[in-house]
Amino acid sequence: MPAKKREAAPPVSGDALIDTIFLIVVDSIKKHVKAIRMKRKLKHPDTNQALYGLLIRDENAIYIEKPVRHSKKERDMILSTLIHEVLHLVMQSSFENRIRRLEKVLMTRLTDEQKKYLRDFLPKHIVKKEPD
Ligand SMILES: [Zn+2]
Repeated sequence: MPAKKREAAPPVSGDALIDTIFLIVVDSIKKHVKAIRMKRKLKHPDTNQALYGLLIRDENAIYIEKPVRHSKKERDMILSTLIHEVLHLVMQSSFENRIRRLEKVLMTRLTDEQKKYLRDFLPKHIVKKEPD
């Protein structure tokens, strides 16, 4: 599991459904995700297609593209990508469009504290290692 600085209880929004999905995402990061790796340019290892995020299922590793630009838009994209890839891990059999819809719902409904809690799992450094 990726290191997390503080062990405070996860924050809540007050919406039971949103909070439950949020906690499922948090549990999955803590229990199943082995590594979160930030890449400057992320490409699919087989197709070379440019990607925002990639889940390597064999090693439960998540790769996320971290652009040089660091505005709110990029920060939101990185968080949205983390949520998206963790949802793939949690809901292995679900279709891409449902994952995308749930990702958008969470980005709209999570509180700033909940978003920060998830962001704290992201490493600050960039890795050179390519996904394989
Ligand atoms: Zn996807």
